Amino acid sequence: MINLVLFGKPGAGKGTQAAFLKEKYNLVHISTGDLFRYNIKNQTDLGTLAKSYMDQGDLVPDQVTIDMLEAEVDRNPQAAGFIFDGFPRTASQAKALDNFLAGKSMEITATIALEAHDDILVKRLLERGLTSGRTDDQDESKIRNRFEEYNNKTAPLKSYYEGQNKFHSVNGIGTIDEITERLTQLIARL
Ligand code: AMP
Repeated sequence: MINLVLFGKPGAGKGTQAAFLKEKYNLVHISTGDLFRYNIKNQTDLGTLAKSYMDQGDLVPDQVTIDMLEAEVDRNPQAAGFIFDGFPRTASQAKALDNFLAGKSMEITATIALEAHDDILVKRLLERGLTSGRTDDQDESKIRNRFEEYNNKTAPLKSYYEGQNKFHSVNGIGTIDEITERLTQLIARL
């Protein structure tokens, strides 16, 4: 079983690459951002709560996010493995994920961070915002706040996973195919 975590700031290409890795390794792709957006679209209570944070570029509270993620893993008991995209984003989410997986005799195989400079990411996100309709992609101050959240809360997870020998990073600048190739080569060496 392969269970991967994809890290990277907003716009780093996590969703794009996850879609490829999911096919190649037969994994279930779980994106917490997509799950929140699904709930917003369907006007659930969870969606209403999440929207109030997402619209500001803030993280949704941990317990709500953890509960949603665990429910989604439980919905896929036959999975050959998972690719977690946008989760964990905080230390308590990382610990909750480890405990949850351990309870199922599962574990994270590796975490991979897609690295790119902020200015390139802002440009990508503003372009995406023109077509995606995502309000959090249309305003540079909200984008910068999402980077701040990443720097403050998610970047420290690097040392958490380094402590488990599970942290890798990949240059996220290049064509989609080039980055896919870098990821494939890295996963082959795991
Ligand atoms: P994403 O699609 O991964 O860029 O996520 C969009 C937004 O959803 C984020 O800016 C957060 O507001 C929220 N979100 C997604 N995943 C998480 C998470 N693991 N923890 C807290 N908030 C999250």
